[in-house]
Amino acid sequence: MKGKIIKGIAGFYYVHTSKDCVYECKAKGIFRNKKIKPLVGDNVIIEILEDNEKLGNIIEILERKNDLIRPLVANVDQVLIVFSIKDPDPNLNLLDHFIVAMEQKGLDITICFNKMDLINEKEKQDIIDIYQQVGYNVITTSTLEEDGLEHIKKILKDKTTVLAGPSGVGKSSILNALQDTVQMEIGEISQKIKRGKHTTRHAELIAFDETSYLVDTPGFSSIHINELEPEDLKHYYIEFLDYQDQCKFNSCVHINEPQCGVKKGLENKAISQRRYNSYLLLHQELKDKRRW
Ligand code: GDP
Ligand code: ZN
Repeated sequence: MKGKIIKGIAGFYYVHTSKDCVYECKAKGIFRNKKIKPLVGDNVIIEILEDNEKLGNIIEILERKNDLIRPLVANVDQVLIVFSIKDPDPNLNLLDHFIVAMEQKGLDITICFNKMDLINEKEKQDIIDIYQQVGYNVITTSTLEEDGLEHIKKILKDKTTVLAGPSGVGKSSILNALQDTVQMEIGEISQKIKRGKHTTRHAELIAFDETSYLVDTPGFSSIHINELEPEDLKHYYIEFLDYQDQCKFNSCVHINEPQCGVKKGLENKAISQRRYNSYLLLHQELKDKRRW
């Protein structure tokens, strides 16, 4: 039977096979000699030992699409980057930093501005516009007023999604609000796997239905840009890509070079000055880091 590991604890793996059905599995001896170890997020084949007790063995790990280090989880499809529109005010340099880190991991990105109840309708629309103009899917929510949750659920459908963002923006609140809405469907599962909840170092997946999962790591608030050379940063500002073929030099990093397509894009306001400023800042940071 096929399933997905949603939790690992003390040598046991909890494999979600279909709605309301989680098997407690061990990895059979065959994995011990191999480099590959089962990870939360892995799609696996299990053999069922006891159907009433929901016990099984993992006998095969299906091919991994990717694996993230922090959080340690396999086969993540996309990230929902959460920032609050107020309290705290969104730090756009930090948001761009998150975006670069997630682009680098190759994840699809949706940006969620939460706490919309704290501002007037038109206030800060410019911030939302900046990211929509870049081409990102931007959604707005208020967990306080339970606004936008249906939209989030639509985005999560059939995907494995990780929530990212600084602390205090409402990630846990979003997670809780979503869990409340699916309590009926996952009631039995959460009863069964609740014990030992705080002893695991690994990420857990919350199953919304047979094919939709959210990585339960509300602590995922720090970002790690892995071994990125300053010259390569430009690839992760995706709006630059449309303009770089107008640059005179292939190696153009769009800062001091003459005849730069990205600079032209800036001049005719197709590229946001705020995004470009954060690019300069991050570029300098990466250069300083290399020097050290
Ligand atoms: P996390 O650190 O990102 O997980 O953020 P939390 O979910 O812990 O939320 C931080 C604070 O913001 C808490 O006091 C929440 O009650 C509050 N909060 C979360 N969502 C909203 C919202 O939509 N509107 C308002 N006004 N406050 C919110
Ligand atoms: Zn250029």
